[in-house]
Amino acid sequence: MNCPQCQQPMVKKSRADVTIDACPQCRGLWFDSGEIDDLKDQLTPSELHWTDFDLWRHQAGFKVSLDPLHCPRCPDTALTTIADKQTDTTVRFCPRCRGSWMTAEDFAGIVSALSSELDNFTAADYFRESLKQATNLVKSKKDPISDWKDLKAVLRLLKFRFFVENPKLDAAMKGFQKSLPL
Ligand SMILES: [Zn+2]
Ligand SMILES: [Zn+2]
Repeated sequence: MNCPQCQQPMVKKSRADVTIDACPQCRGLWFDSGEIDDLKDQLTPSELHWTDFDLWRHQAGFKVSLDPLHCPRCPDTALTTIADKQTDTTVRFCPRCRGSWMTAEDFAGIVSALSSELDNFTAADYFRESLKQATNLVKSKKDPISDWKDLKAVLRLLKFRFFVENPKLDAAMKGFQKSLPL
């Protein structure tokens, strides 16, 4: 599968039971929808209550648009971009296969938004530490996959507030798809 941005072949990265595709050139990350879904089952009860938080709760501030990039799985389908002004985050989804694409900037923005959001919640030290490491990772511009342990913690959190489990993102995208000419 090629990177939707630079058309380079992406590299599959796996650890434990999670696999994602990463572009070695632009450091973008592709998640098949099932890959993020799988993370859900790995949360322990003590981690669960922190997942009450919602990064994308300000639906009125969403800006939904057609992305210039196409889905790497469904080449004739443009990705849908949802930009949230409130948290300064951007997410990109394929309306067909429900996979999502994160540029290195998108990922950095989400990690940073998670960090600020974390201040308002009682979170396990494990998460705080992981998020701190993820922030450093993003700042250092290293390959985010090189330290998968830290990335995985962030992804587990994202899973809960991402897309399928996030009614506001889901509604925004469905509404947008309906508004498109067939
Ligand atoms: Zn790329
Ligand atoms: Zn797709």
